[in-house]
This record gives sequence, C-alpha cells and structure tokens, in this order.
Amino acid sequence: MQSQSIFSIQTPVGPPVEIIRHTFASQSLQPSKRVSLVTGLHGDELEGLYICHRLTQILKTLEEQDASAFKGEINIYPAVNPQALETGTRLWPFFSNDINRTFGRTEPPSLPGEMSSTLLEDLKANSDLVVDIHSSNLHLMELPQIRIIKKFEKKLVPLAKLCNVDLIWVHPHADIFESTLGYNLNQAQIPTLVIETGICLRINKNHCAQIVLGILNLLRKTGVLDTDEPQVAIPEPKLLQPESVTMIQAGNAGLFIKQAEVGQTVSEGEKIGDLIDPVQGQVLEEVRSPCSGLLFTLREHPLTLKGAPLARIATEGSA
Ligand SMILES: [Zn+2]
Repeated sequence: MQSQSIFSIQTPVGPPVEIIRHTFASQSLQPSKRVSLVTGLHGDELEGLYICHRLTQILKTLEEQDASAFKGEINIYPAVNPQALETGTRLWPFFSNDINRTFGRTEPPSLPGEMSSTLLEDLKANSDLVVDIHSSNLHLMELPQIRIIKKFEKKLVPLAKLCNVDLIWVHPHADIFESTLGYNLNQAQIPTLVIETGICLRINKNHCAQIVLGILNLLRKTGVLDTDEPQVAIPEPKLLQPESVTMIQAGNAGLFIKQAEVGQTVSEGEKIGDLIDPVQGQVLEEVRSPCSGLLFTLREHPLTLKGAPLARIATEGSA
C-alpha cells in the first residue's frame, strides 16, 4: 500500500491537516478497473471510517500474502474532511460549510471549494468506479442501503446489487443533489454508489461487517480482486422505487418512544412506538404502520416536532 497526501491545509498554529489517499496498485500487466472508496465527507459520520479501516486491514494482509490477487487498483480516501472529523461535526467547523454541497460549483475561491475541487479531480483521475460511504443524521437510524437518482438507475443498480446492502432506493432527482460528490462523479461518467447506513456518531459493527463483505464482493465481481472471498453468498437487496416507500410523520410535537427496530418486518396496523407529552403525562399518538413491509428507517432521537419523520417502510410486494 502506498499513501499520498492529495491536499494539505495550513492551520494557524499547528501542523498542516492533510487528506490522504492509500493506493493498492494493480499487479497485472493488463490492469482491470480502478475502484475508489471515500469516507468522512461529513465529520459526524463515522461508520465509513470503520469500514475503510477493516478493508485496509484485509487488503494489507492480502497484499502481503498474495499480491497477484490485485488485478485492478484500489484507492481508499479514509478521512476526506479531517477538521470536521476531529470535532465530530457534519460541517467543516471554521466555515460551517457542508462539503457535500460544494462539488461542481463555480464560486469565489474558498478553502472548502478548493478542497472539494481537488478531491473531485483526484477521484476523476484515479477511478473507474467510486463508493462514497455516509451515515444517517442524528435523528434517524437507517438499514444499510444505496440511494440512486433515477437517471443513473440503469448503470448503477447492477453494481449496487453486489454490495450486500439491504435495499436499493431509486429516487427522483432534486436540485440539491447537483452539488454532491456522487452526482458530479456520475455526471462525469464515473459510476458512483452512495451508501447510507446506521446513524451518525455511532458505529454498528454488524452493519459495517455487512458492507465490508459487500465491498469485497464488488471488488471481486468487477474483476479488481482475484480472491475466493467472500465465501458466503451475497443476497440480492430489495429494489425500491419511490412509490414503494411509505413514510410515517409525527402528527404532534413530543417525545418518540420507539417499540420496534430497523430491519423488522411489520404488518399493517402494527405498533412502532408512542409519541408522548412528557409534561402532561399523556400519550399523544400511538404510531402504527399503515402498511406491511420492511421497516428500514426509524427515529432514534426522541425529541420530535410535528411533521418530523418517524419511520420509513418498504411496502410489501417491492422486489
Ligand atoms: Zn453524509
């Protein structure tokens, strides 16, 4: 493995902060694809860091034991927003800037803009396929999933199926996506999968292990790694179109007390939790599923305002 600093940020009083790319080079005379893994665009999303840590360990061992297994090149960008990661915040603290809303924009020069354009160009120069790993926000727990904008569906769904996620969610385009890393790479004809899993500021080892297995499977099935791993069969995820996702929203402000877990199959009318008024000692709402299906998003942060999302269900019958 070779490591290279792709961007260095001078800090006012300390040493520079750097963005690192690790590269496992191809050992083949006719190299196959170059696959890049990116994590940490949002500094409070830590599961991707753990996934990259596990993959780096596995790939380093494989490189020592059988370097010829690397038919293609693997690049790992394990912490691309170091200052936000160090403070555990979604935004780059000094600028209060969401880096994943700065890609592909031509704005007056700024440090976040310079950083995102350097990262985008480095990925374009070194990748035929990219996986960008995110966690959910502070409010909602998510089952491992890949979200795909409708217009990229044809190219991305077959690749997403290899990744051992529970579901693939194809959703309509919205202007807000146009400044994300994933959108800009897909627009540049570099297929990019955006994984969303768990919840921010936490690490769910089971979900991470599931995705590690999925990425190894992706590397193997795309001809980048010539190994027997993973030896387990990778199940096909549910493929969701927008009409097969049902969202439950709070009808009142209150505290949400959940009575279910993500990954559970619920039936129509089944209780998911209570929305309570803790001051008056009242149950404001018994939250029940309006349909049967897979509970794949569930509110984890109890403080709830009217209209806030409580759960999402993949309705039964979706493939
Ligand atoms: Zn994110």
